[in-house]
This record gives sequence, structure tokens and C-alpha cells, in this order.
Amino acid sequence: MRIAMISEHASPLAVLGGEDAGGQNTHVAELSAALAAAGHDVRVYTRWDAVDLPATVRCPDGYEVVHVPAGPAEPVAKDALLPHMKGFSHWLTDRWRGDRWTPEVVHAHFWMSGLAGLAAGRRTGVPVVQTYHALGVVKRRYQGVQDTSPPRRIGYERELGRSVDRVIAQCQDEVGELVRMGVPRSRMTVVPSGVNLRTFAPLGPAADRDDGRPRILTVGRLVERKGFQTVVRAMAHVPDAECVVVGGPPAGLLETDPYAGRLRALAHSCGVADRVRLAGAVPREEMGRWYRSADLLVAAPWYEPFGLTPLEAMACGVPVVGTAVGGIRDTVVDGVTGDLVPARDPRALGTAIQRLLDDRIRRFTYATAALERVRERYAWAATAERLVEVYGDVAAVGRATRVVAG
Ligand code: UDP
Repeated sequence: MRIAMISEHASPLAVLGGEDAGGQNTHVAELSAALAAAGHDVRVYTRWDAVDLPATVRCPDGYEVVHVPAGPAEPVAKDALLPHMKGFSHWLTDRWRGDRWTPEVVHAHFWMSGLAGLAAGRRTGVPVVQTYHALGVVKRRYQGVQDTSPPRRIGYERELGRSVDRVIAQCQDEVGELVRMGVPRSRMTVVPSGVNLRTFAPLGPAADRDDGRPRILTVGRLVERKGFQTVVRAMAHVPDAECVVVGGPPAGLLETDPYAGRLRALAHSCGVADRVRLAGAVPREEMGRWYRSADLLVAAPWYEPFGLTPLEAMACGVPVVGTAVGGIRDTVVDGVTGDLVPARDPRALGTAIQRLLDDRIRRFTYATAALERVRERYAWAATAERLVEVYGDVAAVGRATRVVAG
């Protein structure tokens, strides 16, 4: 199939770890690669954010990235991109009308891509599949006044859910949120994200570590809702271990990062500064080395639309202690592949970490069950196959509707 991915702010070519570059970038890159490997013709449309970017880039993984000239050719925070979505959709429309390449299906990632994709899809008769990656209602609930999303986001997301040809929910928690928003269940299909089982595997090189101390790893964009503060506080209950935080700006720029500064100050006030290390952003291809160097991964977000890092750790044979939120409740089976604890509870988190560090057999059992689970359920090739079925369905319905109408 000819498949147009739209990922307005999250380019598959971006360096990850920064404030707006994380799971969605990985997801779009891996999904596009898996679809290309299965013989599909995939183009990823993402906004330009520098003047010297080539108009198109052919990736070694077999798909093409198209830089869309919508808004200024410089980085713009994702929450400030809405005014440029009209230009984005018109550019897509002109392109698909004028080009010899018109997609058979559009798969939009994030709500703003959905707006651009739906407008262009409706003008050109191409069906639209939507993955939200994150929902405004959830963000508003947890971030309150700190939520910088455009005020109309929640309304747009509801409208999108009722208008696109299919909504892909990534976990059961998201299904519940969407239903409460008023999106009909009949429009949804649950397809979780995948994990790259070549990049993330138990065997392979590991990052250096101090063998005298157990290593706890925690990974993500350095933003408050990822719960790194809870992890730092939990370290007071885990007296002998070191904690490595991967993510944020590159190591050289960490000194000036305000959130990194807050984490360091917190570590000092909790008396754990000598055991908490901020490693900064790590390139995607090196992430496996970091997981493999750890005794366990801690994922302690306040909320999590899906959460790739627990899956990546599980694929490396590393057990997970996670908070019982969002997608983590689907990926980590409590007491079988890891332990789940309530969010924002440093004592519960610290106790669970220490208990697992004290029990080598339990860690081994979790790791084995985790590996089996990711291999069975989360291989990208299988995820791509399930999505191709959805693409085929919506394209067939679109064709039938056009025949009836025409
Ligand atoms: N990641 C990375 N380098 C970093 C930090 C994160 O490659 O320094 C990757 C990580 O391996 C994962 C993604 O960024 O693939 C984070 O995805 P997740 O779903 O956990 O969080 P999100 O960023 O979507 O909130």
C-alpha cells in the first residue's frame, strides 16, 4: 500500500531525549521501517525546522521523510504549532493532487497531525487513521494550569475521534478515556506500539558500570510528569544502589537545563547526590547498551499514554518497576514481568526496588517472563501487520462509499 504517515512535530530523524522528542519519534520511525520491510511504500510528512533540511530524505530503513514547509524553518514548541496546521494541510493537498504519488491511506500521529491529515484526506478522498499518542484530557487532569496545550485541544481531539475513519488506541486505559470523551467504541481498534527486537535484546555490549553497586536505570524526556523526582526521593529507601537518569539535553548541556538543576538539588537535599547520575540524551542506537547495564528499569510517570521504555527494558531482559498508570498497566504484568506501584509515592517505589534488588531469583523470573511477553506480543512486524489490516479495511470502505456515491 501507499501509506502517508503524518507526524507534524515528531520527525523520525530527530535526536531523542529533548522536551518534544521521545516515544512518538521512535514509534513513527519503527512503524515506517516495519511497513517498508513488509513491502509497503511509506512517506513520513513532518514539519521542517531548519532552512538547510533537504526536501526529502530516503532512509536506510526503506521509507522516505518529506519535510513540509509549514511555519518557520526553525524549531517551534509543539504547543505553538496549531496555527501552522492549515498551511500543512494545504501543502499536503496540493502535493497529493499534483504528484503522481497519492496515498491510499493517511495515518496521523498526534492530534495536530490529525487535523492536517483529515483536512487533506477529505479533499483528496483518502481515508484517515488516527493515533493520538497523548490525550489533552489526561494532560489537563495531571498538569492543570501548567498544561500549555492550546485551549481547544480537547474539543479538537473529540471531533477528530468522531470524524476519522479509524482511531488506533494503544492501550486499554486509552480506550476508556476515548469512550468517556465521546468517541464511539466501534471506531476504535487497539494496536499497541511495538519494540525493535534487534536493537533491544538481552545479549550485546553494555555501558560501563561500577560493579560494586546495583544499577537502577530510568529513561525519558526530562519533564516533570515522567516522575524523576519520585525516583530520586525513592533512592533514599534504596541505600546501596546507584541511579542513572538517561534523557534530556546532551550531556554537555545538562548544566544549564533547569529541570536537571532541580533534580540535582533534590538529590542533594535527600542525601543521595553521590548515587544519582544524570547521563543526558543517548542516541537511540545506544539505548540497548544502557538497558543491559542495569539491574532494573524504573518507570515512574504520573501518567503514560503508552510508555516505550518499559518495553525496551523488557526486551533486553531487564525487569521493570513501574507506576500503575496508562500503557504500563498493559505492558508490565504485576508480579509476573515486573512490579507496579502507585504513582508519586517514593516510599512504595523505593520499597519495591529494594525488594527486587534483594531477590535475584525473582529478577531472573521476571526477566524471563518479560522477554517471552515482548516477543509474543510486541514485535514491530506483527504490529505493522495488524495496522495494514486496518488500513486495508478503511481503504475498502472508502472505495465502496465512492462507488455508491458516484
Ligand atoms: N530515548 C532515547 N534517548 C534518550 C531518551 C529516550 O533514545 O536519551 C528514547 C527511548 O528509548 C524511547 C523514547 O525515547 O524509545 C521514549 O519513549 P516513551 O514512550 O518512554 O516516552 P515519551 O517520550 O513518548 O513520553
